[in-house]
Amino acid sequence: MTQADELRASVQHSMDLDARDSLAGWRQQFTLAGDEIYLDGNSLGPMPRCVPAALETTLRSHWQNDLIRSWNDHGWIDLPITLGEKIAPLLGAAPGQVVCTDSTSINLFKVLHVAMQIQGWKGSILSEADNFPTDLYMAENLRAVAPRGALAFERVASEDLAEAIDGSVSVLLLSHVNFRTGALHDLVDLTARAHQAGALVIWDLSHSAGVMNIELDACQVDFAVGCGYKFLNGGPGAPGYIYVAERHQNSARQPLWGWMGHAEPFQFAPRYEPAPGIKRYLTGTPAILSMVALDAALAVFDDLDLTLARQKSKQLGEHLKDLITVSGVPLKLLSPSDAEARGSQVSFTHHCAYGVVQALIELGVIGDFRAPNIIRFGLNPLFNSFQDIERAVVLLKQVFDEGRHLERRFDERKPVT
Ligand SMILES: *Cc1c(COP(=O)(O)O)cnc(C)c1O
Repeated sequence: MTQADELRASVQHSMDLDARDSLAGWRQQFTLAGDEIYLDGNSLGPMPRCVPAALETTLRSHWQNDLIRSWNDHGWIDLPITLGEKIAPLLGAAPGQVVCTDSTSINLFKVLHVAMQIQGWKGSILSEADNFPTDLYMAENLRAVAPRGALAFERVASEDLAEAIDGSVSVLLLSHVNFRTGALHDLVDLTARAHQAGALVIWDLSHSAGVMNIELDACQVDFAVGCGYKFLNGGPGAPGYIYVAERHQNSARQPLWGWMGHAEPFQFAPRYEPAPGIKRYLTGTPAILSMVALDAALAVFDDLDLTLARQKSKQLGEHLKDLITVSGVPLKLLSPSDAEARGSQVSFTHHCAYGVVQALIELGVIGDFRAPNIIRFGLNPLFNSFQDIERAVVLLKQVFDEGRHLERRFDERKPVT
């Protein structure tokens, strides 16, 4: 086949895949500009259509008119719990184990501390050297509050993890999907290995919840945290969430004693008494506007079969990978080439990666760059189509054909890449 024939065949193939896509209708629920191809839903999810009306009601009616009565009358005070219950099914968690609060970093600090308390502060925390930096920072500096200020924190390469899980490990802290490479850990296997070695597990689900099935209860995961603003589409800076398996909930106190985690906040008691259950993981006053946005955004997951979402996500990834190969653009695949071993993201490397991403953005294809040379394309099966992928690769080829990525103005990097 000539390249033109190959291109025509792949256009037809993309159209066929879209025609058979049972999730195609989901895109209507998002406010995406028609001509833009958004491949960054793993970093900031787009806004679901129902969000502005929910915020408008909260602003104009609840905050403006009902003022402080809204804490009771509009359920503001319960939002961390009601939102937790909405997120729970996405994680395979039975009720009473998830709460929505704070940022992932802060939530991680709470569960790391609790996991180490349960383990008597003995043994080490084990993580992956290439874990998301905030996870590494939080684990490393947990020693600031560890008894005697001592804490062993081991980091190993991903491929050495299984072997490193031995009797010396107390807590295994991992991100389900690697933010750089998109590599997906085997949560079932690693959780079982950790338990066998006597360790507790903490999974960071920031890059996996919302685009694949997760079975925290069935796998007997101990703790999990994750983001509200990535695949959950809760908006910039949306609060994150914490999962604590019921069996651990009353065995330790999380370290950030705040009044919202108190058994009776409105007794204003001078002494801290933690609430029973998951509620003790709260600390301060919930950010209501952010929570209302996330609450509305989660409606997107009503009636969604996550098995179908995962299936389409894998197909989108394969499509992108295949078309990039066909196009001949000089990007090197960084993600695992097996779709089963990837999250909902495909990453590539190129020595001018920043320029490539910026040139693509100017052409309406939004991906992102991670230092030093990584191009990330996030794939969201709820709004990305196969023709999106097709067009993105055509525009990528245009960038290289015209040398757009080499323009000098891309030499300087913006603060957020
Ligand atoms: C995005 C992300 C975070 C972000 O944490 P914040 O406290 O919300 O900034 C943490 N961990 C992982 C794995 C992430 O991908």
